[in-house]
Amino acid sequence: MTLHTQSVAQLSQLLSQGTVSSTELTEHFLKRIESLDSDINSFITVNRDGALKQAQMADKQRADGLAGPLTGVPIAHKDIFCTQGIKTTCASRMLENFIPPYESTVTANIAAAGMVNLGKTNMDEFAMGSSNETSFFGASRNPWNTNHIPGGSSGGSAAAVAAALAPIATGTDTGGSIRQPAAHTGLTGIKPTYGSVSRWGMIAFASSLDQAGPMATSAEDAALLLNTMVSHDNRDSTSVAHPNSDFLTKLNTPISGLRIGVPASFFSADLDSEVGDAIQLAISQLQQQGAVIVPISLEMNQHALSAYYVIAPSEASANLSRFDGVRFGHRCEDPKDLKDLYSRSRSEGFGAEVQTRILVGTYALSAGYYDAYYRKAQKLRRLIKDDFEQAFKQVDVILAPTTPSTACKLGEKFGDPAKMYLEDIYTLAVNLAGLPAMSLPCGMAKGLPIGMQLIGPAFGEANILHLGHQFQQHSDWHKQRAPIALQEVSA
Ligand code: GLN
Repeated sequence: MTLHTQSVAQLSQLLSQGTVSSTELTEHFLKRIESLDSDINSFITVNRDGALKQAQMADKQRADGLAGPLTGVPIAHKDIFCTQGIKTTCASRMLENFIPPYESTVTANIAAAGMVNLGKTNMDEFAMGSSNETSFFGASRNPWNTNHIPGGSSGGSAAAVAAALAPIATGTDTGGSIRQPAAHTGLTGIKPTYGSVSRWGMIAFASSLDQAGPMATSAEDAALLLNTMVSHDNRDSTSVAHPNSDFLTKLNTPISGLRIGVPASFFSADLDSEVGDAIQLAISQLQQQGAVIVPISLEMNQHALSAYYVIAPSEASANLSRFDGVRFGHRCEDPKDLKDLYSRSRSEGFGAEVQTRILVGTYALSAGYYDAYYRKAQKLRRLIKDDFEQAFKQVDVILAPTTPSTACKLGEKFGDPAKMYLEDIYTLAVNLAGLPAMSLPCGMAKGLPIGMQLIGPAFGEANILHLGHQFQQHSDWHKQRAPIALQEVSA
């Protein structure tokens, strides 16, 4: 049996039947990473010894009758989550040698569920980017075609799962960083409602937008992992108690009568026709399954990009001020004085994109410009949120493309922010409004996956996972695997 192409739900069953042990499963994935990741560059750190220890513990828990559904299942974590004793770099030179003394809530919850941490995945530096090309450790590549980007910023997590180097992974999404790479690699990824998943121990980019979530090969697997990720945490001041604690219960109900809103403005000239056609086919399929399609308007979405690229850099400029070479991060050699220490440490430690964002953010927040930029962006943010609230009076879920096109070639948009930032035109508004949204595969064009986005009202994760799962019961886009995922590795 090919272990690495099984879903998490299937692996969970194999473990509970005793067909495979967690130690065997972990060894299997570690061997795949060690033999195949040189082409994909999806891991920054492989946690071989730690993973095997966790796997042994999981096997013992199972033998003692204490196993839960995820006990012994391997996972990969984006290198933005602090993991105690394991290097956590955020793909930056600034944190090249940072070994956290504590564990993030997300990774702690997942470890408490018995999952095995295979290692830390590549990403855009400090999660700023849409292609993984801003990583200090080199770009990760798309397993469907290694000349193409896997998307970003959770590109390493996406590539690792799409190449079957891990059965599932964590990601974070500030403006699209779970959904866009999921779309580009044929995965199912969900960004939960703001406040559902604790940000404690997750290195901050833009604190009012950042949210962690699962990246999986199906909606069912995403729901399984989300069950362990959602938790109320006093150490995150914006954490909330989620009204729903089990995202699996609703999955198998039919979707007849479900009202799906389709915003016309998301199908404009920016959208590639092959992506648009795939989304239209998915819409017809859902209609056949009994969903009711309702045209809606989300006109404020056109302002999401401008608002986001003021708010996110502003928050980043504040969050990243802690990396000064004194309290945290890289310190330059032989500083002449304090000013030289700060400026050289930060210039050497941060890459170009991060420095750009810090400059933009500092400018937008500075006296005299605050009203013109930051305050205005916050007003737009409110209008965007109101727009969604109006729409959710008429519909249960909103359906849209995740990205305007399939994954571009490496280097194609890198260095041209005007082009790169457009990757996220369909995902940013959701973060500004704090809503849950997922991307799932709905087609292919020239050998590369196409993603569709399902957006829910606040705390409506169960609705979108339900719709996603029902779509996947009637389609097999999510079952298509990149060639490298089918490649066997000799023992
Ligand atoms: N691509 C967007 C940016 O660079 C979103 C990143 C993210 O969601 N972390 O800001």
